[in-house]
Amino acid sequence: ESLPASGKEIAIEAIDLSFKYPDGTVVLDRINLKIYKGDFTIIAGLNGSGKSTFALHLNGLLKPTSGKLLVDGLDTRKRRNSAAVHKKVGIVFQNPYTQFVGNSVEEDVAFGPENMGVARDEIKKRVSDALSAVHLMNLSAQDPSSLSGGEAQAAAIAGILAMETDCVVFDEITSMLDHKATERVLNIMEELKNQKKTVIYISHEPKDVLKADRIIVLDQGKVTFDGKTDEYVRSDKYPLPDLIGLMKLLKDDGYDVSELVSSPEEVAEEIKKL
Ligand code: ADP
Repeated sequence: ESLPASGKEIAIEAIDLSFKYPDGTVVLDRINLKIYKGDFTIIAGLNGSGKSTFALHLNGLLKPTSGKLLVDGLDTRKRRNSAAVHKKVGIVFQNPYTQFVGNSVEEDVAFGPENMGVARDEIKKRVSDALSAVHLMNLSAQDPSSLSGGEAQAAAIAGILAMETDCVVFDEITSMLDHKATERVLNIMEELKNQKKTVIYISHEPKDVLKADRIIVLDQGKVTFDGKTDEYVRSDKYPLPDLIGLMKLLKDDGYDVSELVSSPEEVAEEIKKL
């Protein structure tokens, strides 16, 4: 049952998951989906579609009002599963400054593994590995609140990496990063995927979509697309980045765009390489 035709195991499963905030707003409406281990999955959708609310369900910070969310088969509604769920799913949030707990970057990154009861020597190793992965070794003694936006986001990512969870969720983390810092974070995601981790990236940036294996689109709390990213890019649901959109419009209007490029798909391929 947990092995689909592709042979991949399920990391996360939502079953008829609905959620409403205490004020009565229904934000997630009977969501059914599976996220597979080792996949790089994007969760996309317009502002207010419920992406962040869904992200908070992924490690049990929010619990479904009805239906359920399973992490490696563990029901997040059960209190006795909460420590295990936290060890399996780490979330990097949009605003890094609200996530710091340490007086130095190093201390902050050590906090997660310390809380998980990891041995001292192992913590040291994890902190240094995580800080190297995000290129922050030289800032390890700094006060995290003094870091720039990009550095702060990198420190927050290191804090999650040090917990060595099987699944890492990035919630709209690039909204305060410049192009270069964004590229660095996308590289970290690809590196995690190479290490066979499950990567979930919440983003409304159409260009980022092309880096993932799979995309789940939310609209007003419902799943409106769930499939491979290349199928999505070829579907009319894809909000085309300007250049591809323009090419498609010209082509649809009967212009010969083959001189410029053979197809919108080719542009998509090019963007993928950026
Ligand atoms: P997204 O991440 O896609 O922008 P969110 O999950 O942040 O979407 O928000 C989805 C909806 O839930 C929005 O209409 C938002 O106003 C509402 N919402 C978010 N947080 C709360 C909250 N704490 N209380 C009540 N409504 C909320």
